[in-house]
Amino acid sequence: MKWLSYLSKLWSGLLLTFQHLKKLNTRKAPSSIESPNFFQEKEGLVTIKYPREQIPVPDIGRYQLHLDIEDCIGCDQCARICPVNCITIETIRSIEDLGVTSDGTKKKLYLPKFDIDMAKCCFCGLCTVVCPTECLVMTSNYDYPTTQLSEMNFHWENITAEQAEIKRKEWQEYELAKKQAKLNAIQNDSSPQNPKNEKQTKPLLNIKSKTNPIDNTTI
Ligand code: SF4
Ligand code: SF4
Repeated sequence: MKWLSYLSKLWSGLLLTFQHLKKLNTRKAPSSIESPNFFQEKEGLVTIKYPREQIPVPDIGRYQLHLDIEDCIGCDQCARICPVNCITIETIRSIEDLGVTSDGTKKKLYLPKFDIDMAKCCFCGLCTVVCPTECLVMTSNYDYPTTQLSEMNFHWENITAEQAEIKRKEWQEYELAKKQAKLNAIQNDSSPQNPKNEKQTKPLLNIKSKTNPIDNTTI
């Protein structure tokens, strides 16, 4: 009865197929990396309808960087620690009060340029660790494909290029005015502590005349 054995095997195969079809609508729910089943995918579909569906990523995963520019103080620590030099920051000193960040740190600099080239980034996460205001963070976005390499260079700024020009000039003028005021103060200071006045009160030369023992002439 060979055909009975064929039929039984066929039926087992079909049963298994129907069992999997029944689970077609079951998806692996987003779960923590600490879950023992995280990488096992025992239940539900393994394949996903990308990009409408995406696999869950761990909360502590390191993917695209994001900067909250409102909280950045321009300290440059992230750029200095980056092992591949993919962070470029330009700052301008402010003569106005720029307020504080959300953690109360005083802001003193404008940021006309803050670029992160994600094409060079090795996702080490060091920049996020050293950031004193925690405004630079890794997000869960791992999906930013492009055909242009330059589009991987992400830009932030808190003033435009035109505003930056004005702020640069303002700071230069402020510095010049400060230096000039210092010079004026020294010139107008008549106290003996003023090094300028001290010079005038000192004797010009303290020369003692001596007699030449050879020919008795004064030297
Ligand atoms: S994650 Fe590492 S490589 Fe990427 S920008 Fe930060 S410090 Fe540089
Ligand atoms: S370390 Fe943080 S606060 Fe300092 S420049 Fe970088 S992002 Fe801004």
